[in-house]
Amino acid sequence: MGNNARLQQWLTGFHDEAHILEPFSLKKIVNLSYIDQLTNLYNRKGFDRQLQRAIEKFHRDSRFIFSLLVIDIDRFKAINDDNGHLVGDQALKLIADCLRQYDAIRYGGEEFVVALELDSNTAFVVAERIRLSVAALAITTENTVIRPTISIGIAEFPTHLSKVEQQKIQPAMNQPLSTAVKLELTKAITDSADKALYQAKEQGRNRCIVAEAGADLS
Ligand code: GH3
Ligand code: MG
Ligand code: MG
Repeated sequence: MGNNARLQQWLTGFHDEAHILEPFSLKKIVNLSYIDQLTNLYNRKGFDRQLQRAIEKFHRDSRFIFSLLVIDIDRFKAINDDNGHLVGDQALKLIADCLRQYDAIRYGGEEFVVALELDSNTAFVVAERIRLSVAALAITTENTVIRPTISIGIAEFPTHLSKVEQQKIQPAMNQPLSTAVKLELTKAITDSADKALYQAKEQGRNRCIVAEAGADLS
C-alpha cells in the first residue's frame, strides 16, 4: 500500500483493513506536499494556507495586520539565456537561501512571497534587508560572475486593499469568513503587492516599493 493510499485512508476513515502509520510519518507526508522540490521553500499551496490563517487572525483581532512581500528576480531570463538553465537553477537556490529565514514561499517560477506580521513601513525595512542580501551574492560560473538582484512589492493587509475588498471583512466580524471570501482577499492583497512590484520594475528594478494607501484596485 503506497503512502497516498495510506493518507487517503487516514483522511476518509478506517474500514475493513487498517494500515496505520505512525502520526509522525503522516505529518511528514502531508507537509511534503507543501514543499517546493528545487528550493525546499514552501510552495504555492503553502501560501494559500498561510495567507488564509493570517486573514482569519486579523478577522478575530484587527490588531493583527500583516504585510505581504511579492519578490521577483530581475532579468532572470537573461541569467538563463547567458548561462544555461542549470546555472539558473543554482542561482534560484542561492536566492532562496537568502529568503529562507523569512519563511518565504516559492510562488512560482522566479517569484517568491513573504508574509510578515508588520505594518508596511516596518516591512519595507525588512524588504530592504532581503534585497541587499541578494544584491550581495556573487555567483561564480566557469565564464563569469553573476550578481543577481530582486525587486519587491509590498502591500499591507487590509490598508492596501480597495474599499470594496475592505468592506467584505467588516460585516461578518462575529462569524467565520467563508473560504471564498478568504480566497478573494488573498488574491486582492497579492494583486496590490503585485502592482507595487510592477512599479519597482518600471522604476529600474533592484528596489522595494510599498503599495499606495487606500488604492482602489477594483
Ligand atoms: P523581470 O526583471 O521583468 O522580472 O525580467 P525576467 O527576465 O526575470 O522575467 P521573465 O518573466 O521574462 O522571465 C522569467 C524567467 O524565469 C523565464 C523562465 O525561464 C525563468 N524560470 C522560471 N522558473 C525557473 C526555474 O525553475 N529554473 C530556471 N532556471 N529558470 C526558471
Ligand atoms: Mg516573474
Ligand atoms: Mg523576473
